[in-house]
Amino acid sequence: MSKVLIIGAGGVGQVVTHKCAQRRDIFSEITLASRTKSKCDAIAAQLGGDINTAQVDADNVPELVTLIRQLQPKLVINVALPYQDLHIMDACLETGVDYLDTANYEPLDTAKFEYSWQWAYQERFKEKGLMALLGSGFDPGVTNVYTALAAKKYLDVVEELDIIDANAGSHGQPFATNFNPEINIREVTATCRHWEDGRFVESPALSTKRVFDFPEGIGPMNCFRLYHEEMESLVKHIPTIKKAQFWMTFSDNYLKHLEVLQNVGMTRIDAVEFGGQKIVPIQFLKALLPDPGSLGPLTKGKTCIGVIARGTKDGQRRQVYIYNICDHEACYKEVQSQAISYTTGVPAVVGAIMMLTKQWHAPGVFNMEQFDPELFLDVLGPMGLPTVVVDGGTWPEL
Ligand code: NDP
Repeated sequence: MSKVLIIGAGGVGQVVTHKCAQRRDIFSEITLASRTKSKCDAIAAQLGGDINTAQVDADNVPELVTLIRQLQPKLVINVALPYQDLHIMDACLETGVDYLDTANYEPLDTAKFEYSWQWAYQERFKEKGLMALLGSGFDPGVTNVYTALAAKKYLDVVEELDIIDANAGSHGQPFATNFNPEINIREVTATCRHWEDGRFVESPALSTKRVFDFPEGIGPMNCFRLYHEEMESLVKHIPTIKKAQFWMTFSDNYLKHLEVLQNVGMTRIDAVEFGGQKIVPIQFLKALLPDPGSLGPLTKGKTCIGVIARGTKDGQRRQVYIYNICDHEACYKEVQSQAISYTTGVPAVVGAIMMLTKQWHAPGVFNMEQFDPELFLDVLGPMGLPTVVVDGGTWPEL
């Protein structure tokens, strides 16, 4: 029975709060804090008010420290934005509380995703006997756990990895993103990197396309190669991986809008002068686009996110495809959010359960593949995200 502090009342924060509230055996007291308290109160109201709410600016470490000291949680679940990661980690260190997030730190003025900033906290967390679990969403998160499962159970040596994220759902809007638009567009428009023969190889954003035939009735969809943060930790912790690529599906309509927005400068992350004040175009664009939370009741269809791991087993070449299928409408029925927020929020709560029950616990800063994958997956399925394993299939090389 533990007190938990959730920071961030967006799409993912809503799912995390609902799911923690379903497990009162673990989360005896839940506080949801965010920059805009009314958003926390709206989520608390969905749950009959049985949740504490608070206002906090997570970029202000003294403010965070005051709140954490007042609440004395066992764990802080950070589902604000990646810009806040280091501030929240600093506050956890100062107050002696464990930390969990779903996305790696990114500086506000550079679209640069890497773990170096957070891995640099390793010694400080260790010295204080505290744990930080990084990237406990779906991708990163469950994709790391699936890779660890392939390495533990299905392959003796993992050599190649294709992480494939399909959103086969549709919200009927001309252009909208399924999670924070600023973070989503920064990720998609960043230079692509994939791992090959011991180094990251760069290619222009969205320049490599494949068609992949997704299972369970989804069928063939266009996938584009992107850089994604889990590749950095996976190739470090599973050094036999020679090649790792990340693929995401995008509709022609999404890509058409994105291209125009890029061409006219609306995805720029630097400040421009307008009407006597400075504005950052991508932040202005975020204000114009539909709030991802509003897509919940509109989105129909499924997501399919998983990992194809290739390598050897008993000296023979072998591959395994491990994935989850999630249905947007079923998610909305359960927690009033679409599947993108759901597939991120549920693994965050399962990561929290792993830490609070000490099934995954050690001092230091960790990525998901460093712990026993089966313990995590045993809880993830019953919490709403079952795992499908197709061992020994024949998927084409991507
Ligand atoms: P949203 O934009 O919907 O929500 C973010 C929330 O954080 C908002 O409530 C926002 O407040 C709050 N926030 C922002 N800045 C601060 C601050 N300085 N202090 C306090 N609160 C703040 O984002 P999502 O819910 O879609 O995403 C949440 C996180 O999940 C992101 O880090 C995202 O990258 C990650 N993610 C991870 C995935 C994975 O699979 N690993 C997939 C999808 C998302 P306000 O309402 O006032 O703006």
